[in-house]
Amino acid sequence: MNQHSGVLRVNLSAIRHNWQALRSCFSGSDCGAVLKANAYGLGVRAVSLSLFKEGCRSFYVATIVEGVELRGILPVDADILVLQGCRAGEESACIKYKLVPVVISIDMYERWRKFASGLPSTARVRCALKVNTGMNRLGMSLGELKQIALQKEGLLQSGVELLVSHLACANDPNHELNQFQLQQFESALRALKVSIPSLRCSLANTAGVFLGDAWHFDAARPGIGLFGVNDGVGGSLSLRSVVSVFLPIIQIRSLSKGDTVGYGGAFRAPRAMRIAIVSGGYGDGLMRSLSGLASGWLCESLPLLGFVSMDSCVFDVTDLVDAPKVGDMIELVGEHCALDTVAAQAGTIPYELLTRLGGRLETQYYE
Ligand SMILES: *Cc1c(COP(=O)(O)O)cnc(C)c1O
Repeated sequence: MNQHSGVLRVNLSAIRHNWQALRSCFSGSDCGAVLKANAYGLGVRAVSLSLFKEGCRSFYVATIVEGVELRGILPVDADILVLQGCRAGEESACIKYKLVPVVISIDMYERWRKFASGLPSTARVRCALKVNTGMNRLGMSLGELKQIALQKEGLLQSGVELLVSHLACANDPNHELNQFQLQQFESALRALKVSIPSLRCSLANTAGVFLGDAWHFDAARPGIGLFGVNDGVGGSLSLRSVVSVFLPIIQIRSLSKGDTVGYGGAFRAPRAMRIAIVSGGYGDGLMRSLSGLASGWLCESLPLLGFVSMDSCVFDVTDLVDAPKVGDMIELVGEHCALDTVAAQAGTIPYELLTRLGGRLETQYYE
């Protein structure tokens, strides 16, 4: 381990294990991987290559920029789907970099169809359509979709091969929206299949995979599950934890009773203490909202004292049997500090915590 800066350790074999675990409980044929936002902050290059070698062939990113980057990493037999589709002017990049846009509105569809009709007949044109089934974020309405479903010529010209929708409440198996979204999706599917019998479908994110076979269809789009988070569901499936964060001690000092620590003097020593100052703070994605709530780990649990600063935070090491020294690494996330727990302490969800960690910390991959 690097003794001078904080490290984000990423277990690539655990990611592959989690992909296989999700794939084994998915009834469809195509279990993909959602690697938007730099693979949830963990580094899209290492994560995508590791999953590609494991056999994953469908990768999802949010934007064309992310898609172009990923195409520079993965061979052409990997499908790369762009969840926000292509904005005006980005159509030719989809062809050049072999990206499959997920068309999210009727305007985008019309643009894509016109663009495709101007291409030579040898060009391989592919797209997915996204229908809004109740999330009310991206996607064309069911009515709009049924309208274009009648125009077979345009669908073929546009290379429509996949129907996509996204679940809003899959992490709550009892939520009524799950059933409603499923019905809406099936209705869209029936309409489109009249014109495109070979159409494939994708509804499930990680939590959608755990909802059961009815929500599975052909292609799954797990993201957070790859990184070891069940999102509160799928309890029987054991996903392995992937991420840990270690910060190095850069100074140790003694406090007298009554001394304060850090900005605002937010912590005041109730007795003589020893404290360790580590390199790493909210500038490294460890949110300031963890102040007073989180703890670190070095042989035992160490309370976090005062506020998390931009570049450092402070732990109580008074009671450690073996005196810690400069260079020792304190765990902030990992075996003893579960990602879900730390996210909850920060007042957020694992998704947000993960995507913030990949900035200044040195990412180290291991098997
Ligand atoms: C982010 C995202 C996913 C992955 O969701 P997880 O909950 O991380 O599994 C799937 N589909 C869409 C459209 C997304 O935006």
